[in-house]
Amino acid sequence: MACKRGALIVLEGVDRAGKTTQCTKLVESFREVGREVHLLRFPDRTTTIGKLISSYLENKSDLEDHTVHLLFSANRWELVPLMKKKLEEGTTLIIDRYAFSGVAFTSAKPDFSIEWCKAPDVGLPKPDLVLYLQLSPAAAAQRGEFGTERYETSSFQQRVQGRFEQLMDENSVNWQVVDASQSIDEVHGNIKRLSLSALTAAEHQPIAELWR
Ligand code: ADP
Repeated sequence: MACKRGALIVLEGVDRAGKTTQCTKLVESFREVGREVHLLRFPDRTTTIGKLISSYLENKSDLEDHTVHLLFSANRWELVPLMKKKLEEGTTLIIDRYAFSGVAFTSAKPDFSIEWCKAPDVGLPKPDLVLYLQLSPAAAAQRGEFGTERYETSSFQQRVQGRFEQLMDENSVNWQVVDASQSIDEVHGNIKRLSLSALTAAEHQPIAELWR
């Protein structure tokens, strides 16, 4: 590798854990210290596939459950050329949800195994760090009402949380659990510290493949 590559940092967690808030703050703080950084969010609702997903999430259309899982995965794969280009140029990627959300959400539905759900995402660029923002359902509830999108119910979110916990048992991925019940600035401080050390560790490592 001619230059130091960027790091791939993912934020995961249930709805209202603070992922979007923290992604934005992390991007700002990296920019302030002169780091090249780019923010991505999955699903990326701007692509043709993303528009199908968006319509489904907004309950404007119905899709068969396996089909929608594969669309979410395809939505990640279609961004892979851009992701690799950015990383190789030395840009750090901060990603709001990734394959782990894909697996946690579909496998929270009846009759879906984690193994089946992981298969289409095997080989995606592997994150150097996955920050799991941990928040109890009760604390999440205090952050406001659920919206009207599909999956925004407390019973479903609790099942999703259980699936994330199963995924975190696996040590092939660099999971770091962050207490998301602290103040926005405290959470940011922890996330920034963990991210800076991942950045340094990633610099001279090739980009690995997820779950392979
Ligand atoms: P997510 O992207 O995980 O769904 P958001 O970043 O959109 O979560 O945050 C959900 C809500 O909770 C927002 O109103 C946000 O301002 C608020 N919030 C985020 N982090 C905290 C925090 N640490 N303490 C209190 N409220 C928070």
